[in-house]
Amino acid sequence: MTGGGGAPDWLGDGYGHVWMPYTQMQTSPLPQAAVATSGTRIRLADGRELVDGVASWWAACHGYNHPHIVDAIKTQADRMPHVMLAGLANEPAFILAKRLSMLTDHALPRVFFSESGSVAVEVALKIAAQYWHNQGQGQRSKFISFRGGYHGDTFATMSLCDPADGFHAAFQGVAPAQFLADLPVDGAAEEGLSQLLAQNGHRTAAMVVEPLVQGAGGMLFHDPGVLQRLRRLADTHDVLLIFDEIFSGLGRLGTMLACDQAAVRPDILTLSKTLTGGTLPLAATLASEKVFDAFQSDKLEHCLMHGPTFTGNALACAAANASLDLFMHEPRLHQVQALEDRLVPSLAPCRDIPGVQDVRGKGAIGVIQLDIGSFEELTWLRGRFVDAGSWIRPFGNIVYLTPAYGIDDGDLATLTGAILHVLPEWSDKFGKAA
Ligand SMILES: *Cc1c(COP(=O)(O)O)cnc(C)c1O
Repeated sequence: MTGGGGAPDWLGDGYGHVWMPYTQMQTSPLPQAAVATSGTRIRLADGRELVDGVASWWAACHGYNHPHIVDAIKTQADRMPHVMLAGLANEPAFILAKRLSMLTDHALPRVFFSESGSVAVEVALKIAAQYWHNQGQGQRSKFISFRGGYHGDTFATMSLCDPADGFHAAFQGVAPAQFLADLPVDGAAEEGLSQLLAQNGHRTAAMVVEPLVQGAGGMLFHDPGVLQRLRRLADTHDVLLIFDEIFSGLGRLGTMLACDQAAVRPDILTLSKTLTGGTLPLAATLASEKVFDAFQSDKLEHCLMHGPTFTGNALACAAANASLDLFMHEPRLHQVQALEDRLVPSLAPCRDIPGVQDVRGKGAIGVIQLDIGSFEELTWLRGRFVDAGSWIRPFGNIVYLTPAYGIDDGDLATLTGAILHVLPEWSDKFGKAA
């Protein structure tokens, strides 16, 4: 059913009821009505097809509707969509836990399942805090996070995000205060962090970082050396180290885990976004045996005090197992490498457009940083990208591509072509200086 202008009736009707995420609903245009997906394409209700440059918030790493994942979900749905995990085991969750442990060469062999990235980070924080509490060090209740970082939208994770990113300005004073540090990118920053730890390590449970790329904070990259310095400092000052690989993990940067590139293991690690290939909500928090051991006791109150209703959901775990299969059956990591070779070179001509500040990338991530002045500009850009047949959704001061790893040359050319076509118009329209 379509109403006026080709828009389906459900779109306008439902817009009066669905509270859209991160959207000023008074001024935003209506969302595009998506009706079907396939590979790297999104079909709209009016018949247009967009080439997807976002992979649905960075999650659909194999493209949409991959038959291997769809089949796994259908088979599991027929057999047993879900049973509670407490007291009952299900095969997809138990197999997945071992496979995730294998990704870390069993350095992090204990896996806790939840349904979203934010909750996986919350669980990581609770594990870290209770790790110390169980050992009589309950005063270690603070966390250290880093400028440019983003770790989620729930209260504790908000307290780890860089306040300058502006996601959570309304909640300052509500979320608990933590320590915000500069990433140890050089000797001076390392010394600063070392001093913070010397003064406050005794009341710190853990440091939390996104390895190699800070995503929602603006797609900011750093070297593997940063992770090695963090590991060293964590060991020296005896605090736990948490790697939030919700964006960086599972191939996005060319290795199954970003921390593989630094040959460093954290004590706790989180995964989500790409975990089910972008099909179903699922997240995992992995912990080392050292961390797990602190919960082993004859006292019930020493066990991990967490258990979401849908933890270990069989349907989502079946999708995740199928997604992991695809990293073995299809040349995913080679595809990411090939993307890395093409992405930034194909975006490099943007450097000559007045108002473009930087072009950068790594793995299956390409980023153009703009001198962007207003939200109006973002909204205008988003609309123009759709007009150009692409689904590209700039935020903050960046336009970026995080496509499916196996996107073909033609669709990639549509995406980069849209950017090279739209940015000069933006530059003219909004009077950007060279
Ligand atoms: C997206 C993201 C989160 C939050 O995940 P949700 O599923 O949106 O709750 C946490 N950390 C990082 C690094 C992320 O990119």
